[in-house]
Formats: sequence, C-alpha cells, structure tokens
Amino acid sequence: MYDRYKREINYLRISVTDRCNLRCRYCMPEEGVRLLRHEDILTFDEIVKFTESAVSMGIWKVRITGGEPLVRKGITELVGMLAGIKGIKDLSMSTNGTLLKNFAGELRKAGLQRVNISLDTTDPEQFAYITRGGNVADVIEGISAAKKAGLLPVKINCVVRESREEEDAKLVREFCARNNLEIRYIHQMDLVSGHFTTVEGGSGGNCPLCNRLRLTSNGMLKPCLFSDIGFNIREISYREAIEKAVEMKPASGMVNHKDNFYNIGG
Ligand code: SAM
Ligand code: SF4
Repeated sequence: MYDRYKREINYLRISVTDRCNLRCRYCMPEEGVRLLRHEDILTFDEIVKFTESAVSMGIWKVRITGGEPLVRKGITELVGMLAGIKGIKDLSMSTNGTLLKNFAGELRKAGLQRVNISLDTTDPEQFAYITRGGNVADVIEGISAAKKAGLLPVKINCVVRESREEEDAKLVREFCARNNLEIRYIHQMDLVSGHFTTVEGGSGGNCPLCNRLRLTSNGMLKPCLFSDIGFNIREISYREAIEKAVEMKPASGMVNHKDNFYNIGG
C-alpha cells in the first residue's frame, strides 16, 4: 500500500490494552486514569481478523504494544493467533519488561520473534521515581529472560528528557554495552503541543519515512501518532478503515488531542 506521499505502508502497531502496571511520569497520570470499559476493548478475534485484512493489503510488520501488553489476560494466546497469520514477517512486542521473566519462554514458543524493552535508568531509586513505584531488578531479570528465550535482538527503548548525555541515559548505555543490547533514545514527546523528534537509533518520528498505522485497544485505526484522525473499525469494514487511514495519512505529524501514549502505544 502507498499513501499520497508515496510512502509504502507496511507496519501495524496494535495496542492491546490501555492498562499498565507502571505509571511512568511522561506517559500516565498517577491516578484518575479513565480506563476503557471491558466491552470497548477489542476481542482477540477482532484483533486477529483485522490484522488478517491488513496483511492481505500489504502489512508484513506487526508490533504488539499497550499500555502494558503483558497485563492483557491471555496475551500468549493472542501472540499465537497473530503468529499464525501467513504473511507477517516480523512480529514483535514493546513491553516495560517487568513481567517478562514469567512470559518470555511461552511468548517465544507462541511465535513472538523479538522484544523492545523500555528502560530509562538502571538506578533503582531513579527507576522507582520515573515509573512511580517500579522495581528495576524486575526489568533486568526480564531482559535476561528475553535473551535466554531467543527473543532477539532485544532492543532497549530509553526515554531521555534533555539528551542522551544525561546521567540516566549514560547508565542505560553502559548497561547495554555490557550486555550486548541495542539502544534507542526516544526524546520525551508531547502529543498535545505536537513536540516530537526522531528516535535516535530507531525509525520513529521521521515523517518522510513513516510506514505505520496504529490500532488502539478500543478499535480506532490511526494513520499518525500526532493527529486526531482515526477510523473506528467497529463502524466501517476493516478494509475501508485501512484504505481511509492510508489515504488520510498526513505528510507530517501535528498534534493529537484525543489520545495518550498509554492508549495508542507510543
Ligand atoms: N508499556 C510498554 C512500554 O513501556 O514499553 C509499551 C507501551 S509504551 C506507551 C511504548 C513506548 O512509548 C515506550 O518505549 C515508552 O517509553 C514510550 N513513551 C511513553 N510516553 C512517552 C512520551 N511522552 N514521549 C516519548 N515516548 C513515550
Ligand atoms: Fe506503562 Fe509503558 Fe506508559 Fe510506562 S511507558 S506507563 S510502562 S505504558
């Protein structure tokens, strides 16, 4: 599929939940998060049927994200269902890693190929501060479990406030160098003001090269992270939603007043 700007669209990011077991300061408020009702969240069947349509139209790269995807009940079963779709060449997940030690082996067996794990610092106190209560040891165990299970390459997503030279980012860089992990620096973004830059070491945030569509956990198909445009896949056919989203993909991101990182999946 090609959009109006001749960009080939082949990548679908699926947010499977708006819930999370952490409360990262740049992503979620501490309390008062308005969570979706159970019936608003797409079922596994809907996610899989939609993905089948997308793959038949040219998507071959799929990432499962959230919220925290590992808190969605039955996530391994969903991974297995998605892995069964012929035509997906790259099936990955973005996770905060805290629960990964319990899941890595079964996810690999179900057909997940690789993971991106978020880690903004290796300092336990700073980690607890940034995530409002998380335990960095859980993430480090999760990273080891992912490597052991063969979810490779394990990539680390590190959100930086100012630059990659700040103390927390340096700690993560050293940790990655010691453990043979790829690192990507994501500058803290703001959906409402439209503040974003390219991801260093990754492909995000680079509008001329953007190849993505995003499906939120309540079924809105979004052509761009920094846009209010979305098509409800429960109101129009999957095919039509995909055609419309590709057609309406903006040349570059502007602002998004409707979503948060934790429902759209970053
Ligand atoms: N819970 C999983 C995780 O943390 O990896 C997956 C969902 S999370 C929303 C996906 C990515 O978005 C993470 O790497 C996270 O660091 C990033 N993210 C969240 N809020 C952000 C913000 N305001 N600016 C930049 N990146 C952000
Ligand atoms: Fe949860 Fe990921 Fe958002 Fe942190 S960045 S609050 S782990 S969804």
